[in-house]
Amino acid sequence: MIGSLQITVPAGCMNDCGFCVYRQHATKFKTEWKSDHERWCKEVEKRLRYAADRVEAVMITSHGEPTLNMTYIEDIMGILKRATPWLAHVEIQTSGVGLTEENLDFLYELGVRVISLSLPALEKDKILDIMRVPAKYNYDPIKLSELIPSKGFTLRLSIAMTNWFDEYTLDDILNQLESIWTPDQVSFKKLIGADEVASKNYDRLAQEFRSRDYTRLELLPLGVWKYEAHGIGVVWNDDCMVSGEQEAPRYLILQPDGKLYTRWDTRASVVF
Ligand code: SF4
Repeated sequence: MIGSLQITVPAGCMNDCGFCVYRQHATKFKTEWKSDHERWCKEVEKRLRYAADRVEAVMITSHGEPTLNMTYIEDIMGILKRATPWLAHVEIQTSGVGLTEENLDFLYELGVRVISLSLPALEKDKILDIMRVPAKYNYDPIKLSELIPSKGFTLRLSIAMTNWFDEYTLDDILNQLESIWTPDQVSFKKLIGADEVASKNYDRLAQEFRSRDYTRLELLPLGVWKYEAHGIGVVWNDDCMVSGEQEAPRYLILQPDGKLYTRWDTRASVVF
């Protein structure tokens, strides 16, 4: 089994994170979504059918902020429901900025059940600062983290390990998660190719966590263990972009051109 099908939504982004990996891999994919919608739907359906027997979950993501293009998400979810209704585990990766209560209700209605909220720190002001969130969005990530579960979603914090974390011990970090954010799951991600803002302590923190006697829940298809710590499902992901050599694909990626790829960083990984 491959871990997940990543569906890339064509969208810009209102934020300007210094570690943005999508800007480093800014491959453009020509899409017929608007110009020949009927043909695009057929092509996408074919790829979803192929992926459906091979993946465990679907992740809606983007090279920007996916919720800026809700119409695309609606189209994809419509095809998914019609062609592969048994693929019920659908998540969305979002910066949270601009994610209104109305959008959350709509995502729920479409069938999304897990919200993976990206955070580069655990303090509101630092989050806004590091992501360079435009003031007009009036973004409050802590309030959003309370709203998401109240709407019936599972909340995962997808934590980009910036140098903000270098001021804190592992226990400080776990305490803040447990007392302020109360997520169901947390995924700590090592930042690749962003040395100026990346945490210098990621490896040490990950090693310290793994050396403790937290229960290992399962080995995920992406090759990392999920642990139970303080009632939270915790994953340390050393290579979320899959930058090294791999014997087998970790993801299938449906790009806006309607084709499937196995890697983010090269078109050569196209499946069909
Ligand atoms: S929110 Fe995501 S896509 Fe937008 S700038 Fe930050 S890392 Fe890049």
